[in-house]
Amino acid sequence: MKAIELHDISFSYGKNKPIVLSGIDMGCDEGTVNTLIGLNGCGKTTLIKILAGLGKPISGSVSYYSRDLNDISYNDRSKLFSYVQQNNNPLSDYKVREYILFGTANRLDVSESPGKEEIEIAERQMERFGIDRFRDKKLGELSGGERQIVSICSSMAQNTKVVILDEPCSALDIVNQDKVLSILKSIAEEDSKTIILSTHNPNHALYLDSNVFLLKGGKIIDSGSAKDIIVPD
Ligand code: ADP
Repeated sequence: MKAIELHDISFSYGKNKPIVLSGIDMGCDEGTVNTLIGLNGCGKTTLIKILAGLGKPISGSVSYYSRDLNDISYNDRSKLFSYVQQNNNPLSDYKVREYILFGTANRLDVSESPGKEEIEIAERQMERFGIDRFRDKKLGELSGGERQIVSICSSMAQNTKVVILDEPCSALDIVNQDKVLSILKSIAEEDSKTIILSTHNPNHALYLDSNVFLLKGGKIIDSGSAKDIIVPD
């Protein structure tokens, strides 16, 4: 079963602006880890935004589980996929535990507040990712690495089938890169989620044993398993 399918996607940031993506065809099987790899400026972030419904392609279609994204309500999208932005620096006055709890908002009606179940979900995720120790810190007081882990943890509290991450390891030192990658690996293995992330580091794709989509100049120039695509040459 394909969790995500893109067909013939083209995109430009505006009239008379260059075409940034063209003829993108790709599919991600349910329960797999997928990496978009390419140099700066090749279109990774743009493609991730289109997947998250934050950019409207000039042509082509995006579907989740065979449903066109345009036909999926915002409410249903929040239950289907979560999106972790690059260098996310969210709502800096909120405490970590409050931000993780925001992840559970997709279970609630507009007028509802989080209750016992939502608090339990948030607590479980904080424990799992080892962020209990800074639960009462404000987001603005965290390091880049801590903030990245908190963002991923909040997306786990959202409990979606698909997780989309834009350069989750950018701006992290090697220790924090390792932490984030092992968290993603555990999510893939233990939770059977479909993960798609962008990176410019081929080693990350290999470490995650992922399916790779190699982007160059806004086109996919190769795809396949990381060990077949990422070779010494
Ligand atoms: P990557 O994530 O691979 O570094 P991006 O998707 O950010 O690449 O950028 C792809 C291309 O789109 C680049 O040429 C970039 O300059 C251009 N671009 C990105 N964001 C915008 C924007 N908001 N307006 C106009 N052009 C943009």
